[in-house]
Amino acid sequence: MRILAHGFCVSLLILAPACAQNGSESEDTASGTLRGPDSAESALPEQPEQPEQPEQPEQPEQPEPVSQASTDPDSIHILVNKQNPLDPPDYAPEDLREVEAAREFDRAPLREVAAGAYEQMFAAAAEEGIDLWVTTAYRDFAFQQALYEQRLSEDGAAAADRVSARPGHSEHQTGLAVDVADLEDRTCYLRACFGESAQGQWLAERSSEFGFLIRYPEGAEGITGFEYEPWHLRYVGRETAEDVTARGVTLEEYWGQPPAPNYDQPYQPNPQE
Ligand SMILES: [Zn+2]
Repeated sequence: MRILAHGFCVSLLILAPACAQNGSESEDTASGTLRGPDSAESALPEQPEQPEQPEQPEQPEQPEPVSQASTDPDSIHILVNKQNPLDPPDYAPEDLREVEAAREFDRAPLREVAAGAYEQMFAAAAEEGIDLWVTTAYRDFAFQQALYEQRLSEDGAAAADRVSARPGHSEHQTGLAVDVADLEDRTCYLRACFGESAQGQWLAERSSEFGFLIRYPEGAEGITGFEYEPWHLRYVGRETAEDVTARGVTLEEYWGQPPAPNYDQPYQPNPQE
């Protein structure tokens, strides 16, 4: 469209002097007639001169995001969703270590930077009498595959894809995501009502200070591809986490990335074998 409009401007420069100002600018400032060569080509010469549009008042500028999405799985700003698998799909971080915090299982590894941040957050919450129990943190490709395929066999593809990521598409495989629970009262264990628990409310208010986000907020399934998961935290660093939280957007929106409600392909069990 830009190219067409531009070529049109060149040929009609004398008839339409506005092209000189508008032809090369962004689409939202170009006048409507210049962007519709199909209809304008025959109609324009007979049209009376358009009155000049009054200048639009300038929009207050939204500050730039403090980070951009990365495709590098070692970046804390890696974007992983149903449209953005890890590359390679069996990626495994090299700096995993166990999180020193109350845990449900023996093992709960996170990447070094996320583990340190979680420990600080755990300590801060503990001072207020809140236990941020870790359930699962890092999950490797094979584990995620087993988890997803179990869901698939029990619930079918549509239901499985709403709640469980396919292997190679899980944030847990980055070593930057962790699930939190209340193990003393398991009523809301990995359920939406966790958001109303003391833990859930503390995390919603404070986790960004430690660099974590509630990655799958309520009502954003059409963008993130997942139902509300108030227990699933993703580490992105403090600056980004605080900015995303303050703006009340998803990570996809913050980074200007397209929504990822679905996969492009039906699931292929372990394409590597
Ligand atoms: Zn999770």
